[in-house]
Amino acid sequence: MRRAAGRAAFRAAAMTLPICLGDAWRQAAGRIERLDARLLLEHVCGCKQADLIAHPERALSEAQADRFEELLARRAAGEPFAYLVGSAWFCGLEFAVDPAVLIPRPETELLVDLAARRAATLDGPRILDLGTGSGIVAVTLARRFPQARVTAVDASAAALEVARANAARHGVAVRFLEGDWYAPLADERFDLIVSNPPYVADGDPHLSSNGLPFEPRDALSDGITGGDGLACIRRIVAAAPRHLKPGRCLLMEHGYDQAVEVRKLLAASGFSETASWRDGAGIWRVSGGRRPPGAE
Ligand code: GLN
Repeated sequence: MRRAAGRAAFRAAAMTLPICLGDAWRQAAGRIERLDARLLLEHVCGCKQADLIAHPERALSEAQADRFEELLARRAAGEPFAYLVGSAWFCGLEFAVDPAVLIPRPETELLVDLAARRAATLDGPRILDLGTGSGIVAVTLARRFPQARVTAVDASAAALEVARANAARHGVAVRFLEGDWYAPLADERFDLIVSNPPYVADGDPHLSSNGLPFEPRDALSDGITGGDGLACIRRIVAAAPRHLKPGRCLLMEHGYDQAVEVRKLLAASGFSETASWRDGAGIWRVSGGRRPPGAE
């Protein structure tokens, strides 16, 4: 009886012993990817990779040890790394993210590059970003074009909160509006419209893997409005002529198999110079077109 009590006390004492960087590293082994483990440990302890190597005996505070174990468990359960650390990189800038917004994808850099090429030819362009989410596209363009006037719309108030914080973090003035696509814009017209809308079809098996279940479903898929992956793109294209000055362009990111269909939608709405571009993985990822210069 006494011995059992003694062992329990010893175990309790051992559990409260401070753990060190080396212990924490071993604790992660086999549970998550080594790179993720290292970056999470650096995030929690505010240390560098060199510290892990040179000072494995350095103690974690109790709060750090608890936090590390919590993040380890969440990562092991598939939660995306960006949500655990609350940020992600896009076009060389670090952005705040939380589960109210999609995590930036490298393929969206193509949308920004194509938009930047057009913005560079215009003097103080008025740019519209539809479905801005964390604001990465609007903020990156506002950073690159200080003379541009950038408006960003999103239907989610929680997403706009993240986007506003990102604009402040990068020192740019973006006008953020809450609403459904063009709804908050009355008859305003722009020199460039860009969008990375939800385009994954409802029921696409992709939605249940790679951490996507942790991301906002209505930012990924148009399941609630149509379900074939093109519902939001149809709405954006159909009303674009009313909000785009003649001779100006619309650019949209879309799914790997949607380029032909998106170009058809653009042509049906009177766009000329319709084209698609491949992302870094060779996938047709962005399509766009120009409102004819002679249009009303
Ligand atoms: N490219 C993302 C994915 O396939 C989807 C982004 C989006 O729906 N806009 O995970």
